[in-house]
Amino acid sequence: MAIYEYRYTEFTDFTKKENCEKYQEALDQVSKDIGKKYPLIINGEKIFTDSLNNSLNPANHKEVVGIISQASEKEAELAMGSALNAFESWKKTDPRVRADVLFKSAKIMRKRRFELSALMTIEAGKPWPEADADTAEAIDFLEYYGRQMLKLTNADEQVLSRDRFERNEFQYIPLGVGAVITPWNFPLAILTGMTSSAIVSGNTVLLKPAETTQVIAYKLMEILEEAGMPAGVVNFIPGDGPAIGQYMVSHPKTRFVSFTGSKAVGITINEEAAKVRKGQKWLKRVVAEMGGKDAIVVDKDADLELASTEIVKSAFGFAGQKCSACSRVIAHKDIYDELLDLATKKTKQLEVGNPENQSAFVGPVTNQKAFDKISMYLEIGKKEGNITIGGTGSDKYGYFIEPTIIADCDPDARVMQEEIFGPVVSFTKVKDFDEAITVANNTDYGLTGAVFSQNRDHLEKARNDFFVGNLYFNRKCTGAIVGYQPFGGFNMSGTDSKAGGPDYLTLFMQGKSITEQY
Ligand code: NAD
Repeated sequence: MAIYEYRYTEFTDFTKKENCEKYQEALDQVSKDIGKKYPLIINGEKIFTDSLNNSLNPANHKEVVGIISQASEKEAELAMGSALNAFESWKKTDPRVRADVLFKSAKIMRKRRFELSALMTIEAGKPWPEADADTAEAIDFLEYYGRQMLKLTNADEQVLSRDRFERNEFQYIPLGVGAVITPWNFPLAILTGMTSSAIVSGNTVLLKPAETTQVIAYKLMEILEEAGMPAGVVNFIPGDGPAIGQYMVSHPKTRFVSFTGSKAVGITINEEAAKVRKGQKWLKRVVAEMGGKDAIVVDKDADLELASTEIVKSAFGFAGQKCSACSRVIAHKDIYDELLDLATKKTKQLEVGNPENQSAFVGPVTNQKAFDKISMYLEIGKKEGNITIGGTGSDKYGYFIEPTIIADCDPDARVMQEEIFGPVVSFTKVKDFDEAITVANNTDYGLTGAVFSQNRDHLEKARNDFFVGNLYFNRKCTGAIVGYQPFGGFNMSGTDSKAGGPDYLTLFMQGKSITEQY
């Protein structure tokens, strides 16, 4: 099968009128489905349950985007049976056929690109370019992992055979049934990446999406089915995290857990998965991608116009709800005031509002719980530093928080240490570059980071000493591209996996050596 080379998906150009019109039409189209009911999907069968979840529009919480059936333990058990059964044939399905399901899904996503993005605008509160980038990343994961699987089928080339004596083979084989537990902040991209990597490697899956973005998750199921995925390969069981998620993690037949979400839940999952239960024949593998407290370091000779622009984009894009979002700025004392002033002025220009309007840069945060948590941190921030802009919010119609800068924070302040996951960034002042890197590394996390400097020695120091999984020089700390910037962090940011990287699929497989003597 001849396959063209992988290349990332271009973002939609919203300076073009026709693209804006298409997006507006897509918003109108998805609005027609408001309030629709969605089932679970187990072994290809659609199951409606009495237990339901209303997925709300975070910009207008009176609007119910969709009503989704919720799985209980009974349905999770059914899903496990279905996945175990499907594994027997799917593991033996030619990897090229499995990869083809991904390539076809990518094609369907391309066709439905505006619709999928518009749905994320109303269900996840994503502004147009953010939603478009989410869909583009989902397509990239499908195209990239499909190709990675094809490469791994030639694993034989990596081992030697001794002439006239023995022939060696080396193969990657799948693990078994995986619990795939996903977050709401990249409700299509991460969902697609985590699901497709598991299944293209030959595993079958119980898929539990986050509570607030279950409608877009259902759309992935539609797409995979249309692309030819056999029944039972992915079993869609949305439900409550601590209930159904926990059940999936602790099930003795679960072979691996693929999780993306918060540090607290990641730790719980890791602990639960480590316990060996009755009837369990393996140690579960846990792939966890967790939170961040990402820093941008600004050196004394940095281009401050550029640095302030990129700080504002990194901190407030998608209302700061990216694991890679900048939530700390560590600035040299000589330029601290000027940088803070520039960042504050640029933040003032941002439009906060309903992301259905193209001009809104900062949309809502995801739900009441997030609104309350971020509001709590705004109060803490008022005590720990000086607010130069923002500091308020309103949950009257939607969950809106003003983009907020908290200046003059101590590196150990709570707002400098704890993941807030909203449009809030804290600034701190340092005496020199060495101190900047020490402060940058002074959290439990190690996900992304950026450095603005013209000093080559300082950049080299950061290259060696800034302990993050994704490090950027003289650009923002968000926006990693599949296959170009493999993504994932150190320390409490996860289990050191790299989504969209060349070794990611091997996390869902095990190697088998076969030697024949003759
Ligand atoms: P979350 O931890 O609250 O939930 C993630 C998923 O876990 C959801 O599906 C939830 O239902 C489920 N869950 C909750 N409790 C559970 C339990 N006890 N057992 C099993 N499953 C359970 O996270 P979130 O709010 O959905 O996402 C935001 C978080 O994700 C942030 O911390 C962010 O930094 C992180 N994140 C990390 C990455 C990365 O690549 N490192 C990417 C995106 C998001």
